[in-house]
Amino acid sequence: MKTPKTPQTDDLQPSKKRIFIGLLGLSFALIMLLILIGGWIATIGLNHLHPSLTLIAQVIAGLAFIFLTGIISALIFSILLEKDLPFTQRIRGLGIKLFLPLMEILGPRLGISKERVRNSFIEINNRLLISGNRHLIPPERLLMLLPHCLQRADCQRRITTSIDNCQQCGKCDIDALIKLAKAYKIRIAVATGGTLARKIVRDHKPKIIVAVACERDLTSGIHDTFPLPVYGILNQRPEGPCWNTRVDVSEVEKALQVFLKRV
Ligand code: SF4
Repeated sequence: MKTPKTPQTDDLQPSKKRIFIGLLGLSFALIMLLILIGGWIATIGLNHLHPSLTLIAQVIAGLAFIFLTGIISALIFSILLEKDLPFTQRIRGLGIKLFLPLMEILGPRLGISKERVRNSFIEINNRLLISGNRHLIPPERLLMLLPHCLQRADCQRRITTSIDNCQQCGKCDIDALIKLAKAYKIRIAVATGGTLARKIVRDHKPKIIVAVACERDLTSGIHDTFPLPVYGILNQRPEGPCWNTRVDVSEVEKALQVFLKRV
């Protein structure tokens, strides 16, 4: 199968890379500093107990330094080269669990809004997922997860209970996304928040999620569901956040084509 041009692969803006790599480097430096200070304090105390304990503490600090340096270097090379390197997916996990929360704290202090930090993280996460995507996913194991705000605010259909309740009137993008899900034979669901999203994921047991949401919800979704991969697509908010939002359906389709077997 000819691999289609991947969404966001050709437009990963250098500024997003710079933001991510810059904050990653800074978070790394901060962690190293904490290890250094902690190790130094521990050394003073341990020396009083037994001199060999000091050596053990120094060895542990040295190993932590080598381990984290290796991880960070691999992650940065993987982002710069846009190639899958060994352990890229595990490294993605470390980036999500350890560095992202730190980056969200550091970013605003350097004049980079949380939204921009999250935006760059989502794109890097997507890049790493695509580069590590060696096995195509059967359609029934791909879940398209949508936010409730895509539904027209004046629509009375209860699509969170079941998306089949949508009449497909065409007034919002839910209609086009249902058509897409049917065409590609994938699962599709709408969530009102994290709790329902987690229940949907538990019920469907997907191998991968293509999720549409805002920066905040995508970031927390990627974080909460790890190691389950989540490919994030940002919604558009022409009427403000959480209200009659839209999505570029062609971008969703391109993501499906990247991960699915030929259907
Ligand atoms: S397509 Fe129509 S029926 Fe379906 S959710 Fe949107 S507004 Fe409601």
